Amino acid sequence: IIEFKHVDKYYGKLHALKDINLKIDEGQVVSIIGSSGSGKSTLIRTMNGLEPINSGQLIVTGYDLADRKTDINKIRKNVGMVFQHFNLYNNHTVLENVMLAPKIVLKRPDDENRKVAMEYLEKVGMADKINSLPRQLSGGQKQRVAIARSLAMHPKVILFDEPTSALDPEMIEDVLEVMHYVAEQGITMVVVTHEMGFAKQVSNRLIFFDQGHILEDRKPEEFFAHPDTERARQFLSKVI
Ligand code: ATP
Ligand code: MG
Repeated sequence: IIEFKHVDKYYGKLHALKDINLKIDEGQVVSIIGSSGSGKSTLIRTMNGLEPINSGQLIVTGYDLADRKTDINKIRKNVGMVFQHFNLYNNHTVLENVMLAPKIVLKRPDDENRKVAMEYLEKVGMADKINSLPRQLSGGQKQRVAIARSLAMHPKVILFDEPTSALDPEMIEDVLEVMHYVAEQGITMVVVTHEMGFAKQVSNRLIFFDQGHILEDRKPEEFFAHPDTERARQFLSKVI
């Protein structure tokens, strides 16, 4: 569903992604871990066209991201994204936040949008807050709304960039539980995370990213039991 072939990405002179070759299949739940500045966000932001690539080939849900003629909006219908800082529409209620993209992007009728929005807001435990504004919610609640918003588009893939990093510890569990639910729906997930628990228990593939490279790409249980590389061992000794 996502395929990188010899992808390079530069920010000016900085070589952020170096010859990335990566194939992610439908239904996989992939965790990406690695130190700060290694290029994890850059990697997932290329997957929905938020960051353009400089060379190589990148096919996402059948569309070629390296091709200028590709309509990015078509990719974004298939690929949702959940950010560290939620990025909700602050002047819209919870319910409106979840109804808006299907209305505008998919041109789905409002009665259906409301039904779908309510269904997912219930799933993430936010049905009692539909008329609240984002500023009236806790961080964990905002993130659950952001995930419901993503789900309402019925995407094939959801990208998560450190969805729990801005949250207090007691809210992290609620969000992880919702992500577990998303994984059970068979939606392909690519998750940049510091949550080793999620990486171990929910994802079925683990990528250790270092200095713009994929250094290890393994089953999570194997990676945590015996990392192949010295870099990964060092990293794990700091985070666990
Ligand atoms: P963190 O764990 O801190 O979020 P990361 O692994 O997500 O780090 P990236 O944000 O992908 O790392 O950054 C990779 C490299 O690219 C870093 O050296 C960063 O400074 C640089 N970089 C990221 N975004 C930009 C940008 N918009 N312009 C220039 N350089 C950038
Ligand atoms: Mg990042």
